Amino acid sequence: MTEPRFFVSPDAIHGSRVTFSPEQSRQIARVLRLLPGAAVLVLDNTGYLHTVRLERVHPRQTVGFIVDTQEAGNEPPITVVLYQALLKGERMDFVLQKGTEIGVTQFVPILTERTVVRRTEKRGRWERIVIEAAEQCRRGRLPEIGDILTFEEALAHARNTAVRLIAHNAVDVLPWKEIRRQYPEQPPSVALFIGPEGGFTEAEVTQARAWGVSPVHLGPRTLRAETAALVALTLVLYHWGDIGVI
Ligand code: SAH
Repeated sequence: MTEPRFFVSPDAIHGSRVTFSPEQSRQIARVLRLLPGAAVLVLDNTGYLHTVRLERVHPRQTVGFIVDTQEAGNEPPITVVLYQALLKGERMDFVLQKGTEIGVTQFVPILTERTVVRRTEKRGRWERIVIEAAEQCRRGRLPEIGDILTFEEALAHARNTAVRLIAHNAVDVLPWKEIRRQYPEQPPSVALFIGPEGGFTEAEVTQARAWGVSPVHLGPRTLRAETAALVALTLVLYHWGDIGVI
């Protein structure tokens, strides 16, 4: 199935009729240059994938009708929440785009002691990045982007997650393989904390331990924060999920 994919909001679907947003309508009419009768795939973000036949194609409002509905699939079997310290410039965009492809369920931006970026007006941009990445990689659902939390709020937010890990590059931290050994069974949910460019402070790591979050080491090289996020996510979904497995 190589038809273009679109995530639509719930109010875009009325019975079998789908009304595309102005942005999507422009994409369909002007960029993809589709004609009435063409099929596109529509995801309603509740886990269903609809095949939609276009009826009216117009750059301001395109309308189609659902002709088939299936389960969307392609979602990881576990919930993965990435608590990522805010990063400078395009690094955050990179984490959102690649994290979506790898299989993050929810991104929670966090503020830590060494976070340089304290506030941001990038939510709209982040949402567009995630939607585009989810459409491109054929995910069945959109990852959520949570509110920005402080480190302590994030520790509380994660408290019901089955496995909680904080990536930290220090000598007394257990390597991934040891942590993995502690959880041989697939957990329902994993929380992963990744630091800012300057890393977590020892005080933060101590605080995390007190909340039951295990520090984990990702190898001898110091990775940039965005690289660490992708490496850790890949390990999580390889060991407990669907990467390199199915
Ligand atoms: N300035 C810090 C590096 C921070 S790297 C230092 O010199 O130690 C940014 C984040 O990436 C860290 O907070 C950690 O979450 C993660 N990270 C990078 N390399 C890592 C490694 N080898 N093991 C575990 N976490 C790592």
